[in-house]
Amino acid sequence: MNPGKTKLNFIEQIVHDDIEMNKHGARVHTRFPPEPNGYLHIGHAKSICLNFGLAEKYGGKTNLRFDDTNPTKEETEYVDAIKRDVEWLGFKWEGKELYASDYFEQLYQFAEKLINDGKAFVDDCNVEEIRFMRGTPTVPMTPSPYRDRSPEENLELFREMRAGKHPEGSKVLRAKISLTSPNMHLRDPIMYRILFAHHHRTGDAWCIYPMYDYAHGQSDSIEEITHSVCTLEFENHRPLYKWFIKQLGIFPSRQIEFARLNLNYTVMSKRRLLRLVEEGLVTGWDDPRMPTISGLRRRGYSPAAVRNFATRVGVAKRDNVIDLSLLEFSVREDLNKTAPRVMGVLNPIKLVITNYPDDKTEDLPLVNNPEDESMGSRTIPFSKHLYIERTDFMEDPPNKFFRLAPGRNVRLKGAYIINCTDFVKDENGEVTEVHATYYPDSKSGSDTSGVKSKGVIHFISQKEAVPVEVRLYDRLFNVEAPLGHEDKDFTEFLNKDSLTVLDKAFVEPSLVAAKPGDRFQFMRMGYFCVDSDSTDNHLVFNRTVTLKDGWKKKK
Ligand code: ATP
Ligand code: MG
Repeated sequence: MNPGKTKLNFIEQIVHDDIEMNKHGARVHTRFPPEPNGYLHIGHAKSICLNFGLAEKYGGKTNLRFDDTNPTKEETEYVDAIKRDVEWLGFKWEGKELYASDYFEQLYQFAEKLINDGKAFVDDCNVEEIRFMRGTPTVPMTPSPYRDRSPEENLELFREMRAGKHPEGSKVLRAKISLTSPNMHLRDPIMYRILFAHHHRTGDAWCIYPMYDYAHGQSDSIEEITHSVCTLEFENHRPLYKWFIKQLGIFPSRQIEFARLNLNYTVMSKRRLLRLVEEGLVTGWDDPRMPTISGLRRRGYSPAAVRNFATRVGVAKRDNVIDLSLLEFSVREDLNKTAPRVMGVLNPIKLVITNYPDDKTEDLPLVNNPEDESMGSRTIPFSKHLYIERTDFMEDPPNKFFRLAPGRNVRLKGAYIINCTDFVKDENGEVTEVHATYYPDSKSGSDTSGVKSKGVIHFISQKEAVPVEVRLYDRLFNVEAPLGHEDKDFTEFLNKDSLTVLDKAFVEPSLVAAKPGDRFQFMRMGYFCVDSDSTDNHLVFNRTVTLKDGWKKKK
C-alpha cells in the first residue's frame, strides 16, 4: 500500500513497511504528546502535522495526550491553548483528549510490579548524591548503598512514599538496570520523586510523581500507539523505554526520531518563550512577533500556510536550521490565492484631481482577487479628494520612477490616468498635497484616451476612507542565531525595531465591517489581517508579511 505518488520520507517508509508486514494488524496509531507548560510553537506545528499527517495518509488515528507529569509547571490555561492550536491547524484527535495523569494509578501499579520483580528500588540518596555517584560514560556508577534492599522493604517504603510519610527529597524510586552502561539513561534512572504539589487535574491525590522518562513510554504502550514519533534528543532514551516495555511485558510502541525544526531569527523553546512573556519583552504568548502558533495566527498566517510549510520542510534525520523566509514564502503563496485585494494607504498624502467635479462620486468596480474569479467583485468610490501613498509621489524623481511626479502620468488602480500638475509644501518643506488632472476618457475597462502611463498606484477617496491603525512587524531578533553566545543572554539580541505603529493609515470603505482574523492583501503594500485589539470603531491591522521577500536587500 502506497497511497501517495511522491517519494516516501523515512518515517512514512517505516510505517509503509510495517503495514506491508501486517504489524499490529496493519494498524497506524500516532499521538501528539505536548507537556502543558507553555504555548505551542511552529516546531510543535511540525510535529502535529507529521503525526496527524501519518494517520491521515494511512487511515489511522492520532491521540492528543498531555504529558502532564510535572505538577509544578503545568496549567489549565496551556491545555486550552494547545487544544485551540491543534484544532486551528485543522486536525481532529481521536476521541477526547488524554492525559498522562489519567495513568498515574496504572503507572504506579507498573512500578510495584518492577519492585516485586527486583527491578526497582527505593533510594534514600538525594538527587545531588545520585548525580555525584553516576560516573561518566567510561567510569562506572558507584552503587547506591540502598540498591540491594529486598523487594518487601522496597514495596513497604514505596507505599509509604505514596502515603505521604516521607518528606520531599528524602527518597526516590529508581529502576535497577546497570552500573556500567555507557548510556547514562540506563544507570539506575529515577522513576518517581516525592513532590507535595497540587496537580492541575489530580489535585492533591498524589505526592509522588513519575519522571517523564518513566511515564512517557508507558503512556504510549497503554494507548497502544503503534508509531511513537519524537525528536532526536530522545534517541538515547529509547533503550530505557524498551527496557521498561520488556520488563512489564506491555504493548511495544515503536519509537522513531526525527530532527526538530529550528528557525533562524527566533528562539523556539517554551522555556525561553516564557521568559519573553514574563519579562514583558513581548505583549504575550500571542504577540504577532512570537513563533508560537497563537502568535502566527494573530499575525494572519493561515493554517494551510503553516501546514504547507511543514510539508515543504520535510522530515530530516539530522538537525538543521530553516530560513524564516521559507515560512514567509508559504504564507504568501497561500494568501495570494485566498486573500481579497483591497486598497490601504499606510502613509497618506492628499491628492486633488483639480478638473474633477467637486461633489461627484463614482463607484468603480474592482475584482476581489484576479487569481480566483469566484471571489467576486466590489465597488470603490472615486472622487476629487483622494489619499495616495506618500512614497508614490516624488518631487524630483529619477527616470525609472513610474509613479507620480510633476508632469508625469500614472494610472489610479481601477480608475483613471492622471497627470501631476502641481504640489503644495508646508513651512518645513514637506509635501502636503499633490495636484493632478484626470483624463475623463481613460477609465479602466473603457479607456479610449490613447494616453500612456507606465505605473499604477492605489488610492482611497477621502470622504469614505476608514481611519485605521497599522502595525508593521520585523524579525524578533537582530541575529540569525540568538542562542549560544557565551557571554550574552539571548534577550540582548532582541530587535528594538520589530514593531512599528502607523496611526494615520486609511483603508477603503468595504473594510469597515472587517472582523478580527480577516485577511487581506493591501495592493502593493503586503498582506494584512485584522488584529484582536480592534473595536467596532477602531480597526487595527497587522502586517502579516510583505509582498516580496525584502530581507536580502536589507542586509
Ligand atoms: P520545547 O523544548 O520547545 O519546550 P518540548 O519538546 O519540551 O519543546 P513538548 O511539549 O515536550 O515540548 O513537545 C511535544 C512534542 O512536540 C514532542 O513530541 C516534541 O518532540 C515535539 N517538538 C517540540 N519541539 C519541536 C521542534 N522544534 N520541532 C519538531 N518537533 C518538536
Ligand atoms: Mg519536553
